[in-house]
Amino acid sequence: MKCTGLLLLMALFLPGCAMRGQDSTRRATVILKLDDLRVEEGQVPGGWQEVFTYLNQAGVVATLGLIGSSLEEDNPPYFDWIISRHEEGHEIWNHGYCHCKPTGPEGEELTEFRGTDLAYQLDHIQRTQQLAESKLGFPLRSFGAPFNATDSTTAAAIHQLPSLQVWMYKADDSNTGAYLLPRTAGVNIEYPTHVPSFDKFLRAYQSNRNAPVLVIQGHPQSWVDKPERMQDFKRIVHHLIADGARFTTPYAYYLAQRGE
Ligand SMILES: [Zn+2]
Repeated sequence: MKCTGLLLLMALFLPGCAMRGQDSTRRATVILKLDDLRVEEGQVPGGWQEVFTYLNQAGVVATLGLIGSSLEEDNPPYFDWIISRHEEGHEIWNHGYCHCKPTGPEGEELTEFRGTDLAYQLDHIQRTQQLAESKLGFPLRSFGAPFNATDSTTAAAIHQLPSLQVWMYKADDSNTGAYLLPRTAGVNIEYPTHVPSFDKFLRAYQSNRNAPVLVIQGHPQSWVDKPERMQDFKRIVHHLIADGARFTTPYAYYLAQRGE
């Protein structure tokens, strides 16, 4: 046990040894992009509850990617849970309306924001914006697409919605008025999607911790039934805290960049 403890201490306090060309005195800036908040069987899903109980205890701010259709049916306990996270400083963001895969004219599989037309995309983004305003009582300021699948039509839709000011993981270089928060290649919570890996995160983080901002993605509801997944997520956050990382949200980061 002593040896294990020593290794853990080394991992916590000597990350600089393994960094290639990274300034270990500079603090990393991190956004936890957590996806797919929706109601399940009338409840706030357990993975979301556990993750935000943990993050609040740890004093870490994060984000919740909301699927708009989950606000259609009135559910005050679910709405109150989301509003409480908003009031704590976590950012609720627009993760589309249905998270669905519609069928295209040739019978092909599309995604909500790739391959569908402008009226469809605009309607799906706007519906979630309007549901948030009417049922939660605050506007959503940031967007990230299901499957991170977007196209130039999405850029045109976002352009028409000035209330949405930040876009995470935009997939192409089409023009948009939104402030972009890109993905840093290789730096994730999950390897592959839905499966947190502390070891893989740590290697990628140590090589990229000086990026202007690290937007790292995860899916809390995929971790709840597998304790090792939740444990690896918590180890990642614990390591970031020990490394002095600053946690922020997309909209707060954008405002800070604008000097507000
Ligand atoms: Zn998603």
